[in-house]
Amino acid sequence: MLFSAGFFTGDKMDDTIAAVSTAFGEGGIGIVRISGEDAGRILDKIFVSDFDIENRKLTYGHIVDPDNGEMIDEVLAVYMKAPNTYTREDVVEIDTHGSVVSLRKTLSCVLKNGARPAEKGEFTKRAFLNGRLDLSQAEAVMDVVSAKTDRSFDVALGQLEGRLSDEIDRIRKAILDMLVNVAVNIDYPDEDIEEIVYADLSNQISQINDAIKKLAASAGTGKMIRDGLNVAIIGRPNVGKSSLMNALLRESRAIVTEIPGTTRDTIEENLSIRNIPVKLIDTAGIRSAENEIEKIGIEKSKQSFNNADLVIFVIDANSDISAEDREIIKTIGDRHVIVLANKQDLGQKISTYEIRKLLPSASVIETSMADYTGIDKIENEIENLVYGGIVRQKDSLIVTNARHESLLHEAVCALNDAQKMADSGEALDFIDIDIRRAYDALGQITGETVEEDILNEVFSRFCLGK
Ligand code: GDP
Repeated sequence: MLFSAGFFTGDKMDDTIAAVSTAFGEGGIGIVRISGEDAGRILDKIFVSDFDIENRKLTYGHIVDPDNGEMIDEVLAVYMKAPNTYTREDVVEIDTHGSVVSLRKTLSCVLKNGARPAEKGEFTKRAFLNGRLDLSQAEAVMDVVSAKTDRSFDVALGQLEGRLSDEIDRIRKAILDMLVNVAVNIDYPDEDIEEIVYADLSNQISQINDAIKKLAASAGTGKMIRDGLNVAIIGRPNVGKSSLMNALLRESRAIVTEIPGTTRDTIEENLSIRNIPVKLIDTAGIRSAENEIEKIGIEKSKQSFNNADLVIFVIDANSDISAEDREIIKTIGDRHVIVLANKQDLGQKISTYEIRKLLPSASVIETSMADYTGIDKIENEIENLVYGGIVRQKDSLIVTNARHESLLHEAVCALNDAQKMADSGEALDFIDIDIRRAYDALGQITGETVEEDILNEVFSRFCLGK
């Protein structure tokens, strides 16, 4: 079944839903949210106050179970009349004390009096189905909630405010103009309507496709801004891996030790480098071991190495390249790595030139963890990797969602096909089909045309109460 934002023919929207909308645990306050036709009636039944409930006015009172007169909590409640609400339905919010008990009891009282438990993301789903948000904006709600850094928050907020939707709408409008033009020529080929010149059509397709490609190209950056970057630190024992981790963390959470092989297992740390969420994985070093526990550590190192977005290979520049270093270099192959020629403060036995000869595709940075030399350069490398060619402006449009990315690629493929056909002068009917494919793919981003199962899939990733 196809849904269109703005109207809904299903049966589930008639009922009233409720959930705890704040995080579970102790907090200053907690909020129970209710949405639907009965929201106001339910509040009337369970809320006792000396004051009248007025639209959009926070009112002081108590939640009292009407069945047994039990006072559940002292609260503030607000009733917000449709349509100017989050879901565009009548909404009630009850601010309870932020205790799990109070929230659970208040919610259960609400449910006993006419609401049903909301599914994950159901408030936002209703906001979408009632036309308040398009699908890409609804998806941004979750990204705003889960953003870990300022940058990912900014990007998500921009998307929530409709920046991506505006660009998609602009591109779709251009495609629609093209479709109208093609359709007129298909339907009335003999009439005196400006005939489509294939070269022009090909040109138009290519221009539109460039705009889509630009959006698609931002997705790599978007993924890293949103989900973070896995950075594996490899190197033989004692070269300074833990010290590097500490230097990046600027606090000593990883164990720094002078006994080789103590970092048997992998140590992981989450941090934010230049506003990019980074997971640092300090590995046991990829080398042979007799000890069973070390073998496990080494296996894990290899795994983190293979899964990493970026590998930092630390060597001790104050000693010669060892057999172990050479083993690691073999494992690296032609993967791009950052090599840190560490312990520069102790003097340099291996030159950067020699390292470059061994690993031609690596970036080499001379560092010292003793005085933090080179840390800045490491951070620059990470930042460059994430942003690549993308302008690092606060308002540059970046796609962060894998669903959007794959739909953008679908649109690009469809327009590539259309352009090829236009270039070889194929019948307009065929070209029309491919242009339409692109139009529909983009429409799925904003939810203009979207299948019910995709919709369910999108909202099932939300948290409860959102
Ligand atoms: P890991 O086994 O590779 O994790 O190495 P560690 O970070 O535990 O460092 C091993 C030893 O080398 C420790 O005593 C560190 O203080 C020391 N170390 C690490 N980096 C440097 C550096 O750049 N200069 C100097 N002088 N010592 C370092």
